Amino acid sequence: MKHSGLRKPFVLSALCAAMFFPAASAWAVTDQEILNDVNTTHEIVTNGMGLQGQRYSTLDILNTDNIKDLRPVWAMSFGGEKQRGQQAQPMIKDGVMYVTASYSRVFAVDARTGKELWQYDARLPDDIRPCCDVINRGVALYGDLVIFGTLDAKLVALHKDTGKVVWRKSVADHKAGYSITAAPLVINGKLITGVSGGEFGVVGKIEAYDPKNGELLWSRPTVEGHMGYIYKDGKAVENGISGGEAGKTWPGDLWKTGGAAPWLGGLYDPETNLLLFGTGNPAPWNSHLRPGDNLYSSSRLALNPDDGTIKWHFQTTPHDGWDFDGVNEVVSFNYQEGGKTIQAAATADRNGFFYVLDRTNGKFIRGFPFVDKITWAKGLDKNGRPIFDDSNRPGAPGGETKGTSVFSAPAFLGAKNWMPMAYSQDTGLFYVPSNEWGMDIWNEEIAYKKGAAYLGAGFTIRPLNEDYIGVLRAIDPKTGKEVWRHKNYAPLWGGVMTTKGNLVFTGTPEGFLQAFNAKTGEKVWEFQTGSGVLGSPVTWEMDGEQYVSVLSGWGGAVPLWGGEVAKRVKDFNQGGMLWTFKLPKELVAKR
Ligand code: CA
Repeated sequence: MKHSGLRKPFVLSALCAAMFFPAASAWAVTDQEILNDVNTTHEIVTNGMGLQGQRYSTLDILNTDNIKDLRPVWAMSFGGEKQRGQQAQPMIKDGVMYVTASYSRVFAVDARTGKELWQYDARLPDDIRPCCDVINRGVALYGDLVIFGTLDAKLVALHKDTGKVVWRKSVADHKAGYSITAAPLVINGKLITGVSGGEFGVVGKIEAYDPKNGELLWSRPTVEGHMGYIYKDGKAVENGISGGEAGKTWPGDLWKTGGAAPWLGGLYDPETNLLLFGTGNPAPWNSHLRPGDNLYSSSRLALNPDDGTIKWHFQTTPHDGWDFDGVNEVVSFNYQEGGKTIQAAATADRNGFFYVLDRTNGKFIRGFPFVDKITWAKGLDKNGRPIFDDSNRPGAPGGETKGTSVFSAPAFLGAKNWMPMAYSQDTGLFYVPSNEWGMDIWNEEIAYKKGAAYLGAGFTIRPLNEDYIGVLRAIDPKTGKEVWRHKNYAPLWGGVMTTKGNLVFTGTPEGFLQAFNAKTGEKVWEFQTGSGVLGSPVTWEMDGEQYVSVLSGWGGAVPLWGGEVAKRVKDFNQGGMLWTFKLPKELVAKR
């Protein structure tokens, strides 16, 4: 909390502080507040603007009629020489914004003025192994703590007033390839995190910690065959919880280095009391080394938050051979059909298919392509399992010789990558940031070596069209119909948000934060932020006015992995800025 610069006698100022800021409880973020975040507009205390991940705001002060007057009120630089991709979603609590930046940095910022209140820089070792840029996707808030995961696979809890470390805990060995880039999730007194590292043959896992002190509560590995454990006082309670049979969907010992990293973190559905996570590719990429479905890679998992038990799983790409990580967010939403309320969940996969599931049991309701070109599968069967086109699986290598190269679409960076979609409760549409690209992909021999890249594949990504790669799409989850689309030259890599003001926001690598009419797709506003926008925009209400904030800073996986596509974006400038917008006060007053 900031105090004014006016010097008062100590006793008096302490008394005032006690009166106006009664203890820490004034701030302390509670479980109830987190559960209710979806209904509150004055603060943002969850990643996803609500645990369900809809990224929908009921605010309509800002709308399609007045958005032409939306303008910046402040911008703040993350500074230093550390630029690269900025992919976080800001959190807002009591007029303070908490946000992460590249290289495991955290900032607290006065949301009214943009003044920096404190900055925390994690001291990272030289041998971190982030696969896809030194990014981070945001903090969790709980009690008086600001908690985030680092590139060397630690959880760090900072005091919200000072940025000082309250506790720090190692989640996994960064030398084996583990890192953390997702925002943690707090639910009913448990801090839940996933890990990254599927490109290094780690064993993915989802874990719960006590947010007050960092004590491990349970651990759930996400490769079939590994036991899960509940912990008490730092010790595993005997009789672990089975995670399926070792070697059943994996050959030999490959389950011991199977990947399936839940690197994008997860969401929570209060109605079913389920954690909803996605898991990454099986390791290695060369699928000929691991016949079988390779559970629970490239899947969606529903977990019991009390002990990490897997309640259901839905595998989008069994026996993945294209790096189609199934990490994408599982967004809870309800809809009416045949006079009944359907408790559904929607997810748009890297593999090009959009899935609607029954979130009470993981059963497939329907699925459909959400990009124009899919070559690896001919469609989905009645259970949502892909009907493979066997001629489009990259061939097996023969000793020194690499396997047959095939041209596959989507490319491994996905029809949709990490960037979250949004769901409007008004239009009933999902707003999906997608990309149209393909790749030449082939397999090579590979053996596991701790901490080394474990792919066994080579690739070159190629655009499918001259004039665009990115496509923001409005999709009806009840019919699969694309209601509108907006094309973008560069691949889209930023999160989406929608509001009751009939607006959809997202950013572009070209540097624009853009707004669209949610019903028609007409672009109604844009602002050049100076560098690529990869962050997830947020909106909130403060002093009777509606604010919008987003991070700007080009980087992420595309320039690192993008083949022909990287050439297309090589001249985009890096950055590291936090921008905040609102309407001029006099215009709002006239409403
Ligand atoms: Ca991957």
